[in-house]
Amino acid sequence: MPSRLRPLIPLLAAILALPALTGCGTESPSDTQTTPVASEAMPSPGDTSTEAAPTTDSAPDLSGRTIAIDPGHNGGNASHPSEIARQVPDGRGGTKPCNTTGTATASDFPETDFTWAVGKTLAASLREAGAKVIMSRDDNDGVGPCVDERGTFADDADLMVSIHANGSESTSVKGFHVIVADPGDTKKLEDESINLAEDMSAAMADSFTPNKAYGKDAISHRPDLAGLNNASVPAVIVECGEMRNPDEAKAMESKSGQKKYAEALMQGIVDWY
Ligand SMILES: [Zn+2]
Repeated sequence: MPSRLRPLIPLLAAILALPALTGCGTESPSDTQTTPVASEAMPSPGDTSTEAAPTTDSAPDLSGRTIAIDPGHNGGNASHPSEIARQVPDGRGGTKPCNTTGTATASDFPETDFTWAVGKTLAASLREAGAKVIMSRDDNDGVGPCVDERGTFADDADLMVSIHANGSESTSVKGFHVIVADPGDTKKLEDESINLAEDMSAAMADSFTPNKAYGKDAISHRPDLAGLNNASVPAVIVECGEMRNPDEAKAMESKSGQKKYAEALMQGIVDWY
């Protein structure tokens, strides 16, 4: 066996030993973990952080920056099954369903309510710091937009952050993970997205548990997510935690928890700049 493959074996074994890792229904519920790719195997991402990142203690200045925020799913999706089932471009030559309903906590608090609450809070903080914010949706009562538009809406932004929460069936599965498109549309864009994922993961890890089943940085590399595939700017999906885990569900359902998630995502964005 080539020696470069050896470090992957323990990682692969760890992933195979996990209880079923079900998605949040980000897109297709059947799509879960793909072949793990060790982040060590990736070339060093380009250094995009040429400016000193403001600390959490000083107010960040994001004037002149444009940030795209995608709160996953939508409140009207569940009542429009045929509308969200229609096929749209997956960004890699195929198609997939327009959208999904997402997951929920044991007490039926829906993922779309969580992503909307965090997305709104994050957008307000970004605007307060002087940034222009583009949202993939304007409310939590509509249907869609479809996953292809959840990439292309960010075309004029510097970066795109898609907010989700995961729905592993096992209540013992815990922690956040960050997803990047792999392969990316171009190698440069893939590297920039990995760079963004590393900053988001590090900022999230200051307050939340990383799910290292996805790798040491809790970063998952997937070829099948249309939102990421259709993005022309550095883009990540942050699966903020596991909605079936009682501790994380409690945080996701509470205003204070939602605020904490938004603050962590804000810090990741500030660090990336
Ligand atoms: Zn989701």
